[in-house]
Amino acid sequence: MDSINNDLKNDLTWSSARYSTLLRCEKKYYFQHIGGWGGWDKSAPDLTQEIYHRKYLTAVHPEIGLLVHDRIACIFDRALTGHSPNVADEIRKAQNAFVTFIRRSVVRPLDAVTRKSRKLLRDELGQPLTDQAVAALTEHIEVLLKGFFAFADVKALLEHPEDLIPQLLDPQNFAIGHELGVPARLRTDIVWVTEDSVVVGDWKGGRPSPSHRDQALTYDLYVRALLQLPPEETVEVRFYYLGEQKIATFRFTDEERELHKWQIGEEWETIKSYSQSPTINIAPPEKFRARVTKSCAECSFQSICPEFIRQHRNQVVVEAEL
Ligand code: SF4
Repeated sequence: MDSINNDLKNDLTWSSARYSTLLRCEKKYYFQHIGGWGGWDKSAPDLTQEIYHRKYLTAVHPEIGLLVHDRIACIFDRALTGHSPNVADEIRKAQNAFVTFIRRSVVRPLDAVTRKSRKLLRDELGQPLTDQAVAALTEHIEVLLKGFFAFADVKALLEHPEDLIPQLLDPQNFAIGHELGVPARLRTDIVWVTEDSVVVGDWKGGRPSPSHRDQALTYDLYVRALLQLPPEETVEVRFYYLGEQKIATFRFTDEERELHKWQIGEEWETIKSYSQSPTINIAPPEKFRARVTKSCAECSFQSICPEFIRQHRNQVVVEAEL
């Protein structure tokens, strides 16, 4: 993106990730969602440009997650047009994409980092992956994709892709909707219809987490509203843990849905309270407090965060004095 499009707006939206970032560190929220707006334009202030590029510094496992999700979406897209996947080919494509990303990441300058051209934070910090680490991660991609193909549901869907709802197959450009009662950009990995329910599937590269229940509830609310399902219709959410070959299955009651919708409304009010506009994300940086913790080590903005730099310097001085 080379110039500012005047029609672009930094829309204020709810997401569980946004709310979590706000709770963990307000300043990181500012950097991630407000401070870099317009920074794709070379005439924007230097700091705005730097924040914009830093937003797209990434970590290894989220990047592998994206690659694996993209590969799986392609596999089902092709299945819808009658093509059966070759397991070895699909694994090789994902592994090649990862190795290419790693090679480019190491040499990519910060001012070339964008949403589509990401870079590992560790490369920006001068701590590139070793060859052994890249080899181990490439093997991990194989484990994840072999795990994917081993699920009985995946085998059945590849044989009967007509059960899928194509528009809910990992869409890439998703607009703001109000299915949860608040503005949000939502998407699903995969949704299909069985004899007795609508099933929402989600591919997980990591381990089960207590937060996944809330994510499943959000999917339930979203798909019910989007497909205008009657209350008596059964929606089942299934999380597929590719590495562990486990499935977590969720079905919710009306009461659980109501409570979750209320929680989302509360989180939305909190997000809104930080913005000067109820629809556009805009606020001065001084409104956002830094919270320096161990998780700063994973923060893409540590090099431009005064509080982190101050504490880090103190730490170096103390170590030097010992
Ligand atoms: S470095 Fe730490 S304190 Fe600074 S913005 Fe990032 S998470 Fe917040």
